[in-house]
Amino acid sequence: MPHYFHSVMLDRDKCKGCTNCIKHCPTEAIRVREGQAIIIEERCIDCGECIRICPNRAKLAITDPLEKLADYQYNIALPAPSLYAQFGPDVLPGNILSALLKIGFDEVYEVAVGAVAVSNHLRRYIEHRPRPQPVISSACPAVVRLMQVRFPGLLEHIAPIETPMEVSARLAREKARQEHGLADKAIGIFFITPCPAKVTAVKQPFGKRSYVDGAFSMSDIYGAILQRLSDAADDSRNSLSPALGVGWGKTGGENHAIKEHALLAVDGIHNVINVLEEIERGELADIDYVEAQACTGGCIGGPLTPQNLFVARVRMEKLLKKLADCRQPLPDFPSDPDYYRLPGPIPPRPTLQLSDDINQAITMLEEVEHITAQLPGLDCGSCGSPNCRALAEDIVRGYAENSYCVFKLRERLQLLASEIVDLAHKQPPAMGKHVK
Ligand code: SF4
Ligand code: SF4
Repeated sequence: MPHYFHSVMLDRDKCKGCTNCIKHCPTEAIRVREGQAIIIEERCIDCGECIRICPNRAKLAITDPLEKLADYQYNIALPAPSLYAQFGPDVLPGNILSALLKIGFDEVYEVAVGAVAVSNHLRRYIEHRPRPQPVISSACPAVVRLMQVRFPGLLEHIAPIETPMEVSARLAREKARQEHGLADKAIGIFFITPCPAKVTAVKQPFGKRSYVDGAFSMSDIYGAILQRLSDAADDSRNSLSPALGVGWGKTGGENHAIKEHALLAVDGIHNVINVLEEIERGELADIDYVEAQACTGGCIGGPLTPQNLFVARVRMEKLLKKLADCRQPLPDFPSDPDYYRLPGPIPPRPTLQLSDDINQAITMLEEVEHITAQLPGLDCGSCGSPNCRALAEDIVRGYAENSYCVFKLRERLQLLASEIVDLAHKQPPAMGKHVK
């Protein structure tokens, strides 16, 4: 089995086995066994839903520590557009970027800038009406991994275009090489991430390598930025902050930057699943492009953002209005379409199928149906599987037993109890009349 990197981890000391997380996982990747959550590695897509839902803060995202800056001679910060919505109404991108420089970065390259380059390229790509329709955005790695696991048949819908994070990192690296004559290995590029899914995209990219060297959690770096905001000038030399690129940080921003097509924006992983099911049924062929984000509200609602989503949304709207009036000239972007192309097709990860052998899979499926029909259908999760059908699958795969269901266990106990009562009425023939 291939090794999967995961940013989302379990803190075993904090987990109380409450089963809250198992019911919210979009790929049914969590079980609770012996009072502890277990993450099924090959199914987890690092969307961070369990981080949000866990009442005991037992799920966490592993990101890089700031000390990693010491590994490189020249460090470049790549702030996600959603970072700008995390601060008070008077804090402008220039303030935030200046504060990042004071933390220890040598340069900042805004992902919002790379997002404009990607938007231009996406617009041209959609104009050629590629098949199959609709094209699905490749920007949210949690959605792409969801499709690998649950919708492998839709992977060919994904736009074969790199994410703004990767394009920005590549542009930043080339700029640093040209301007400072640095060797590639001297340059460290660090994304400031709103989510664990992006960390996984950096550590285990779809292609051979990521242009990003590490990812710092937005929540972790937030305090350090706040501390330096007061003495950070709004150094507009540091900030290009194109409104079209900054808008990618919220739902609808990506579509707004593409414009003039039949565009659909969906956010929240369970809503994304509903839309993907519609695409699977062939119901959305009239739509050109689907912007799909795992987090409600888009990246401003990412699990590693420090700000409340509703506040961040207001901040983002206000900021976008301000930025619409101040247009800084952007660098020339490469015009070669291959510059933006994903390194290859995204492979499926069909970990939900019961067996590679079709005949065996059919037999197992029949068994699953049979067991599911005998379970109570309450989907209570007390068995440690997310619902009755998932328990049936676990039983068929050999990972669980029928008695994990508390109702089935009670039935067996009742049966056992009545057998014991029955036996208690029986006497050996030597002691009296034998009761049959
Ligand atoms: S939500 Fe999941 S990880 Fe958190 S305590 Fe409950 S079982 Fe453990
Ligand atoms: S919507 Fe944004 S923050 Fe949320 S998982 Fe996708 S890329 Fe990450």
